Amino acid sequence: MLYIIYTTGKCNLNCKYCGGSFSKEKMPWEIKYKFDDLKRLLKKDRECYICFYGGEPLLNQIFIKKVIKEIPAKKFVLQTNGLLINDTEFELLNKFDVILLSIDGVKEITDMYRGKGVYDRILENARLLKKKGFKGDLVARMTLTEEGNIYRDVLHLLSTGLFDHIHWQLNVVWSERWKNFEGWVKNNYLPNLEKLLNFWFKKMQEKTILGIAPFQGIFKRNLYGGTMPPCGSGIDSVTVTTDGRILSCPIAVEEKWAVLSEDLKSFRKPEKILIGEPCRSCIVSRECGGRCLYTYMEKFWGEKGFKEICKLNIWLIERIRELKPKIIEMTKTGKIQLYDLIYPTYNNSIEIIP
Ligand code: SF4
Ligand code: SF4
Repeated sequence: MLYIIYTTGKCNLNCKYCGGSFSKEKMPWEIKYKFDDLKRLLKKDRECYICFYGGEPLLNQIFIKKVIKEIPAKKFVLQTNGLLINDTEFELLNKFDVILLSIDGVKEITDMYRGKGVYDRILENARLLKKKGFKGDLVARMTLTEEGNIYRDVLHLLSTGLFDHIHWQLNVVWSERWKNFEGWVKNNYLPNLEKLLNFWFKKMQEKTILGIAPFQGIFKRNLYGGTMPPCGSGIDSVTVTTDGRILSCPIAVEEKWAVLSEDLKSFRKPEKILIGEPCRSCIVSRECGGRCLYTYMEKFWGEKGFKEICKLNIWLIERIRELKPKIIEMTKTGKIQLYDLIYPTYNNSIEIIP
């Protein structure tokens, strides 16, 4: 099981997507439960994976160090805005198998949403990580907005040579309706997504696998299937809040449906299967898996909006299905290795479906 652990509700940024720190009532800025209760729960799980989350998780490094020292998880993952990397001992950073850095693509877009100068600081810190010898998986975690261009932004991040994988989420979970979503999809997103997919495939023919996580993740689910939803929320991933509650999804901090236990001491295992129709009988259910539990439950854009996003998933999944025989052929002829393509190899907190 993946345990997404809030280290604090505090953040040192104020991005437009989520508005910065949680109020202390909603997500306390310190850990309010007894550390031994967490330790007892996690030590029982032989398949324990831990992802530190926040707020900005690196604001509570004492807690992170204690968890890493005392809880024998199989892997440790960090989701961070990246600003404190240069203030963190490399010895600690090097304990992470995966570090996910929030960056949205080119400078103007990242700074527009995350604050002036943020892009430069993230890249500086990513360079520092590499320079010091970080051997883990460095992932760029993009949020894609109306100003974004998926082809330009993914290629830009790849061109820095810093990131092993790139993944993106459309800014459609919490946001208001966009000014012209339909127009953006037709004139921007789908044509650029097609270009990106073609480029990914062309590179594969040249024996290079670009770490574009949604393409790899969809391909993997096509081959092997997976949980519904793909992030495993409430199935093989749970979230521990700073006040000791257990939730199915890390962003659902106020929603009753997400509470698996009010108290981590009494938590046994997740038992709520929430994703039903139309996802269970959907033609792309194997790969899409209902895409996101939070969106499925909340549907901020209504049924119609939900279906508009489904169309994008279906489009992408069908394209990848079309490419599959050619990709499999390349693995058989030894042009590429299947194990290089399969990603993520375990639930490392990446949300596969954009
Ligand atoms: S495409 Fe839509 S209906 Fe189909 S599985 Fe995904 S979220 Fe559910
Ligand atoms: S994909 Fe959705 S359900 Fe899964 S962790 Fe992200 S917000 Fe939560």
